[in-house]
Amino acid sequence: MNEIYLDYNASAPCDPRVAEAVAQVTRDGVGNASSVHRFGRRQAAAVDEAREQVSALVSGSPNGVVFTAGATEANNLALAGFVECALQTRQRSPLPRLVRSAVEHASVSASAEALAAAGRCVHDVVPVTAGGFVDLAALSDLLQRTDGDVLVSVMAANSETGVLNPIADVAALTHDVGGLLHCDATQMVGRLPFDMTALGCDLVSFSGHKICGPAGVGTLIGTRPALGTLMPMTWGGGHERGLRSGSLNVAGVAGLGEAARIAAAEQTAETGRVSRLRDRFVDALTQELSDVVQNGDVDRRLPNTANLRFCGADADAVLVNMDPVAASAGSACSTGAIEPSPVLTAMGLSRDAAFESVRFSLGRFTTASEITAAAERVVTAVRYVRLMTTEAA
Ligand code: PMP
Repeated sequence: MNEIYLDYNASAPCDPRVAEAVAQVTRDGVGNASSVHRFGRRQAAAVDEAREQVSALVSGSPNGVVFTAGATEANNLALAGFVECALQTRQRSPLPRLVRSAVEHASVSASAEALAAAGRCVHDVVPVTAGGFVDLAALSDLLQRTDGDVLVSVMAANSETGVLNPIADVAALTHDVGGLLHCDATQMVGRLPFDMTALGCDLVSFSGHKICGPAGVGTLIGTRPALGTLMPMTWGGGHERGLRSGSLNVAGVAGLGEAARIAAAEQTAETGRVSRLRDRFVDALTQELSDVVQNGDVDRRLPNTANLRFCGADADAVLVNMDPVAASAGSACSTGAIEPSPVLTAMGLSRDAAFESVRFSLGRFTTASEITAAAERVVTAVRYVRLMTTEAA
C-alpha cells in the first residue's frame, strides 16, 4: 500500500511551486536584504513582494509584517514583547495581564506560564465549551474585572479539533476594556478566509509550513499601534521594524510569500474539495465502525480536520496499526508526552476518551483514491485494536 499523509495540521507538504520559488532565490539571490547596493536591493525587493503577499492573505498591512522563524517565535514575540514593553515603558502596577484560552498552542500557553512564573505578568486561562469554543461569558466576566494592560490571545482555529473561535466577538470584548487581541491564526490562514481588519485583530501569527510553504519561516502581523506596544525579543541591527533583528532568510520569506499567494488564489476551490473528501472519509468510517464519536463542534470547524474517538481503541495503537496512513494523536508538538491531549480534556473529555482520539487532517494534495484506501486501512486497524483489547481484558 502507498503511503498516505493525513497529518496536514502538523505540517503540510511543500507545494512544488513554493519549492521552486525557494530554490530560485537560493540559487540566484546574492547579498543581504539590508545592503544598499543593487544585490541587496534585489533581495529587499523579493522580501517586499512577500510582505505584500503575506499581508494580503489576512487583509493586513504590508508595513505591519514582521518575519519570524515560524509561529512559535511570532507567538513568543507577541506575548513576551507585550509584557516586557508594558513593564518597561508603561506601568508596573498592576502587572500586565495575559489572558488566553485553555486550548492554545504550547507556544502561547508555555510563554504565558513562563512569564507569569518569572513574576512578569498575571496570567489567566479562559475555559472552553464542550464544543471547543472559547467561553465568551467567562472571558467577558474576567475582562470586566481587570484593569491595566491586557493582551488577550485566542487562536482562530484549533490544531487538534479544527474548531473555529468567534474571533470578532473576542475582539469586541477585548477592545471594550482597552485590551489588545493577539490571534494565533496558524491553522486557519490559507484554509478559510481570514480578514484581521474586519475581525478586529491587533496581532496575528502564522507559519509557512501549515500553508504548503517552507518550515522555519512565519510572521507576526500587527497594526501600527499594536506593534508599538511590543518590546523586541531579539536585539541587534534593528531589522523588521526593530522587532526582530537578524539578516532575513530571504529564500524562506519568498517561499512564504509564494505560499500565501497560492493560498489566496486557490483557497475557495480547495476548501470545497477538501471538505468533501473529509466528509466522505468520516462517513466511510462511521458506516463501517460502531462507536465513533467526533470531538468538537462539527459545524464550525476547519474544512480539512476531523478529530475522531474510536471508543475502546487506544489511539497510539490505532496509529501504529494503520501505517502507512499517517495521522496523529494529540498535537504533534506534544507527541511523546504521556499526558492526554490538554485540548480534549479542556473540552471535558475524560483521560480515556482523549487517549482514544485521533486527528485526521487533509489538504491540497489529498486525493479521492487516497481517502478510500485510508478509510479501509483505518477500519481494519480499529477493528484489530479493539479485538486485541477485548482479548487482553
Ligand atoms: N500555533 C499553532 C496553532 C500551531 O498548530 C503550530 C504548529 N503546530 C504553531 C503555532 C507553531 O508553529 P511553528 O511550527 O511554525 O513554530
